[in-house]
Amino acid sequence: VAPVHVVGGGLAGSEASWQLATRGIPVVLHEMRPVRGTEAHLTDGLAELVCSNSFRSDDPQGNAVGVLHAEMRRAGSLILKAADANQVPAGGALAVDREGFSRAVTAALEEHPLIEIRREEITGLPPAEWDNVILATGPLTSPALAEAILGLTGESALAFFDAIAPIVHFDSIDMGKAWFQSRYDKAGPGGTGADYINCPMDEAQYNAFVDALISGDKAPVRDFEAKTPYFDGCLPIEVMAERGRETLRFGPMKPVGLTNPHAPDVKAYAIVQLRQDNKLGTLYNMVGFQTKLRHGEQARVFRTIPGLENAEFARLGGLHRNTYLNSPRLLDGTLRLKADPRLRFAGQITGCEGYVESAAVGLMAGRFAAAERLGLDVPLPPLTTAHGALLAHITGGHIEAEAEGGPRSFQPMNVNFGLFPPLAEAPKGEGGKRLRGAEKTLAKKKALAARALADILTWLDSPQQAA
Ligand code: FAD
Repeated sequence: VAPVHVVGGGLAGSEASWQLATRGIPVVLHEMRPVRGTEAHLTDGLAELVCSNSFRSDDPQGNAVGVLHAEMRRAGSLILKAADANQVPAGGALAVDREGFSRAVTAALEEHPLIEIRREEITGLPPAEWDNVILATGPLTSPALAEAILGLTGESALAFFDAIAPIVHFDSIDMGKAWFQSRYDKAGPGGTGADYINCPMDEAQYNAFVDALISGDKAPVRDFEAKTPYFDGCLPIEVMAERGRETLRFGPMKPVGLTNPHAPDVKAYAIVQLRQDNKLGTLYNMVGFQTKLRHGEQARVFRTIPGLENAEFARLGGLHRNTYLNSPRLLDGTLRLKADPRLRFAGQITGCEGYVESAAVGLMAGRFAAAERLGLDVPLPPLTTAHGALLAHITGGHIEAEAEGGPRSFQPMNVNFGLFPPLAEAPKGEGGKRLRGAEKTLAKKKALAARALADILTWLDSPQQAA
């Protein structure tokens, strides 16, 4: 059997290589460190954790990343096995001794008879004779390779900066204060004229909000981030606020073309808009609210917006150096580049976010590439699983704002329950009791988790997935 080439020995590339080799497929893994470094990696170990040593919650019932851990363990993940073997105490989280973890992954891959590791930078598109390639070069993909990918995909398809606006769970928005309406009731293609959620502010609320933005605690700018310019179109909201008290009211918070049905006679002084973020309609992003405010500060300040007092955030905003594809447009359902299907992408470059998610996408890419190499069908994990939900987010589960002439809306995201299709029926309490509040939220999460963990087996047990 001819080898599959994996480029990048980070979280995704290491997992993909392992999944391939355990299915009997030879692998050539190309990792550029230590020949060439990145701005964040410090060692030459495979699967180096560049920042925190946490894989986040290990709770397989109440937390979507915990569900992803559980699914990965069932799928024989090397990353989870090495993490479990190198765990350090961290309450309900799975945290690891980073050196022990990276050493364990490196040793497992080095010792596998079907894996050859080459320490070299791939500086252009892979040669034509590599017919099955996984590109897993991460958010800090080396410039030469990024250039080559850019040449293949086009300018607007590869981002170098995340300007992330916070994303809110729809069911945590108070629609007794907010309302659905597009500016001037304009219905774009596929729109209804009521596509946005609007949150009104009076003058005092607006002024207090601007003050909170300006005085809020900001995340420090890392050296290499400072060197990457950001575009005027995606300035952090607090930078806009600093430019003048009225800037936001004439920018993303302009109160025109909208009428509050809860108070039709009162003219709002400013309005915060949220736009649907996934096809399921469970998540909404805060339009124009990319920010470098610290996470705790964002939750505090954004919950002062009328209608968002109890907002639950699927992700908070940020601005980072991050190379990632506009995957929903560029990749097919099994992560292959439509323009050149011998190239498959994995890890954070596909637009997932986080160590665990990157490894999970590597796991899927490895299994897809293995099935393809063996001439088998490539079944997808069910949408109801954490793997399936993550894959759908990457390959097409979001709303394409570009079609409306807006900015591209695809943003990297951690796995979260908002990406899962809703339950057919709301869970009930003992004796069929209707649940409310926190009890209801917890029961919903448990039911989504139980469904995922049952459904992942249908994928893992399919004949094409057998080792
Ligand atoms: P990586 O783990 O970065 O692996 C990519 C590999 O490809 C690297 O080993 C690199 O050396 C190699 N490579 C790059 N270009 C080439 C080339 N041309 N040829 C050969 N090899 C190449 N996520 C979290 O969950 N928690 C965090 O705390 C966290 N902190 C982060 C901090 C920073 C500064 C950054 C940039 C990201 C952070 N992330 C974090 C996000 C993300 O989870 C990690 O970046 C994660 O490592 C991504 O996995 P990956 O496999 O896609 O990429």
